[in-house]
Order: sequence, then structure tokens, then C-alpha cells
Amino acid sequence: RGGRGAGHLLLFPFLAQGHLIPFLNLAKRLESLGQRGGSGQRRLEVTIVSTPRNVANLQRAVPAGSSIGFAELPFSPSDHGLPPDAESADAVPLRAFPAFYRATELLRPSFEELVAEVAGRQGRENVCVLADIFLGWTAESARALGVRHRVFLTSGAYASAVTFSIWLRPPTFPRPVGPSDEQALHDFPDVRVRYTEFLNVIVTEDHATNPMLAYLCRMISLHFRHSGGLVINTSEEIEPKGLHLIRKLSGLPTFAVGPLIGGRTRAPSDDARDEDARIIKFLDSKPPASVLYVSFGSQNTIPASQMMELARGLEASGRPFIWAVRPPAEFDGAEAFRAEWLPDGFEDRAAAAGRGVVVRRWAPQVAILAHASTGAFLSHCGWNSVLESLWHGVPVVGWPLIADQVFDVRLLEELGVGVEVASGRVFGGLGKGWEHVRDVVEAVLGDGEKARDMRRKAAELKQLARAAVGVGGADDEVKGSSVLAMERLLDSAFG
Ligand code: UDP
Repeated sequence: RGGRGAGHLLLFPFLAQGHLIPFLNLAKRLESLGQRGGSGQRRLEVTIVSTPRNVANLQRAVPAGSSIGFAELPFSPSDHGLPPDAESADAVPLRAFPAFYRATELLRPSFEELVAEVAGRQGRENVCVLADIFLGWTAESARALGVRHRVFLTSGAYASAVTFSIWLRPPTFPRPVGPSDEQALHDFPDVRVRYTEFLNVIVTEDHATNPMLAYLCRMISLHFRHSGGLVINTSEEIEPKGLHLIRKLSGLPTFAVGPLIGGRTRAPSDDARDEDARIIKFLDSKPPASVLYVSFGSQNTIPASQMMELARGLEASGRPFIWAVRPPAEFDGAEAFRAEWLPDGFEDRAAAAGRGVVVRRWAPQVAILAHASTGAFLSHCGWNSVLESLWHGVPVVGWPLIADQVFDVRLLEELGVGVEVASGRVFGGLGKGWEHVRDVVEAVLGDGEKARDMRRKAAELKQLARAAVGVGGADDEVKGSSVLAMERLLDSAFG
């Protein structure tokens, strides 16, 4: 295969941290393959396409000398009634999400110009678009411009298959309906969902008139119709059943190339660096596997009353914790921290006893999970958080809020490394009080059989996850399943 032109992959993430991060990790993996001549001697070129603010952040997050390229598409959030810095979903108030999603579709003309320019320069057969599942129109663009297209799915296979099936062909619950009533899915008769899970996935009681859902369904359908393949940040070993389901639903050739983890998309400011150091020092002072890390990810949050119960439960558990606090659901995501969100004196009591750290901004999540003192992760079960936890062998206390998160926790329970404490932001939520939080935290961090089992399973999965991408293990020469899938992907993209 020597002598071929460079294959150029145009990576186009959705504008949200949970998407930008795995795309960056994918770019780094592809870059390392290109350098090793991994894909059949073919030279690989990788460009990440995004809006100016995201490009600036991503550029700071790649090491000096990296060959990863960046292309900027003009984007003016205020033209769409959004805050001026709203180039990533975490800077967008929840109520403005529909406007934000629609605005991303207006990137289409400048994206098409970019693809046409690259294809004109390098040859159409040497260009492949690798786009986010939420940017379905890119599959139409690629088809029209005669270049290949693959989707990169940054959520898990099982949860995506179930969620997409619910969005595209919602099950009907006979009335009157109770919260724990179950229905089988049209696409997967073996998979049953509870009514509360269904509501949390569609985030409204009225599927038909929800503009966000209409948008997402259109994007997914465009991909299933026009794309040439599905690339997923998971591995065959972690998600055999999920991969079977998503292959069936999408009808697309599917490549499990993960877990890809590890990047950060924000260059820390000096303040943030001090804060990170404070957190690591706190972890250094604690015994192995003793600390609970609490985070609901970059965009989601729980209502104020549930936040109070969570705080009381943490306090009652007596376990050390690090909690990345985002404003409760009643506030805008960008709101500055307020002490009134937590019980009176909560932070001072925790600090005085050396018991807990309240993080008021972006937490260094991967460094926290990698630290030997971290014993469990109370997580909203966003897929990146799930993978990061599996990668570091940390059991999960699941508090999923919306969409695929609701089914990620099922997967973790099936794998024996997670237990659900609450589900949903609005429908269901933390049905029980702080005592329940305390008890579940104790069950996962304590010395009981359940806790020991989870730690053992988490350690096994850590090995499996690392073996899939070919790092670690007894024999570095053995290619992991995800490494082989990546080779097949590149052969299909430029073959
Ligand atoms: N993250 C982080 N610090 C924070 C919050 C989030 O580093 O304070 C990172 C986290 O490590 C993960 C990503 O942001 O890589 C969140 O992605 P996930 O899929 O878990 O959830 P989302 O934010 O998309 O709901």
C-alpha cells in the first residue's frame, strides 16, 4: 500500500464538552497511528472542525508539535439569542437548548465550503468526514460533495441503541399509567423500559411537540440513511449486547474503537491550577479507595431540594468526598456559586474536619479518578464519565438524569460495577431522602460484600478496557479488539 496519498479525516464534534473531549481523544489516537504508519503505510492527516472559541481551547489542549490541525467555522451565538460565549452547551441555559441545537445547523454552508476546498486540494477519495451523531446533516453534505462519511458516537452502544429507539419509535404506555409500569421497545422486544425512564429519556410528557426531540430524530435518521458507518467510543468486551443492538438499529457497519479517554479541552488558568493542586493534596492525605467523587457532568444538574438531600447524605455517610457543584436546576448553568445551595455551614464543616472539598468550577476529573484514594464516583453516568471510571477501575454510584444516562446505569449494574441511587432530574429523581444517599454510598465505599465485589469487578474491567486499545497487559504485541476495529475503519474510509 506504500505510496498512497494522505488520508484526511475531518473530525466534527457537536458543540458540548462531552463531545469535544472524546473527539479530541480520537484525534490523538489517530495521530499516533499516523505516526506509527499504523494504517497500512498510509499517512493520516487529522483536522478538528469547530467554532472559534472551541478551536482556541482545543489548540491549547494538544501538546506542542502535535500534527492535529484545526479549522474554524464562523459562529455568532448572539445572532441566535444566545449568550455571547455560548459555543459549547455548558455555557447555554437549559431553556435555550432548542435554539442552540438549531444554530449548529447554520454551520452547514461554511462546513460544506471547507469540505469542498479540502476535497479539491487532496482528491475526494482521500477525504472522510467523521461527524457527531447530532450533526446528521453532515452526512447529506458529504454525499453531495462525493466524500466518504462516518458517524462518531460519543455515547455508549447499549444506551444509544435504547435511547434512539425510544426517540424514533416511542413505546405506547396504556392509560392510566403508573411510574413503574413497563413497556417493551418496538425495535427490541427483549428490552423493557419503565415509564419514569421513558419520561426521563424524552424529557417531556409530550413526545410529539418537543422540538429538541424532533431535531435529534432528524439528525439520527439522516445518519442512518446516508452515512457509511458508525464509530463508537466503546469496546466489544465492554458492550457486546449494546453493539449487537446498535448494529441492528442503524444497519450500518460498526466500529468499536474505544475506550478513548484522557484529554482535557480547557487549558487551566492559574487559579484553576491552584484549585487542582488543592484537590490532589486532599486526595494525597486520604487512605486508598476511601474518597467519593461527586459530579453531574458538564451540562446537567439536579433540583435544589435534591441537592440539599445529597449534601445531607454525604455528611451523614462520614466518608471523605470531592463534589464538583454546579448550580441547581432552577438556576442558569453559568451562575456563580452560592452558599445557599448547600445546607448551612456545610462547606465549613467539611473543610474543618478535613472531610470534603467543594469544587466550584471545572474539576480535574480524570486526575481525580486516576488517584488511588478515589474509591467511588457518584456520577450522572454521562458516557465519558462512565468510560473514565471503568478505565481507572472506580465503582459508580449512578444518578442518571436524562437521555442515554438512564441506560448507562443499567449497563454498569449488569457489569457489576455500579448501583443506582436515583434516576432523573424531574420524573422520579431522588424519590427517597438523604438516608438513602448515605446507605448507598456506604454500600459502595464500605467493607461489605457488595463493595468488595464491585471493586473486584471494576479491577477486572480496567484490565479489559486497557487490553482493548492495546495498552498494558502482558504482551504489548497483541492487538486489542479496538485497535483492529480502528484499522478496519481506516481501510473502509480510504480503501
Ligand atoms: N469533566 C471534567 N470536569 C468537570 C466536569 C466534567 O473534567 O468538572 C469532564 C469529564 O471528565 C468528562 C466530560 O467532562 O470527560 C463530561 O462528559 P460526560 O459524557 O461524562 O457528561 P456530559 O457533560 O456530556 O453530560
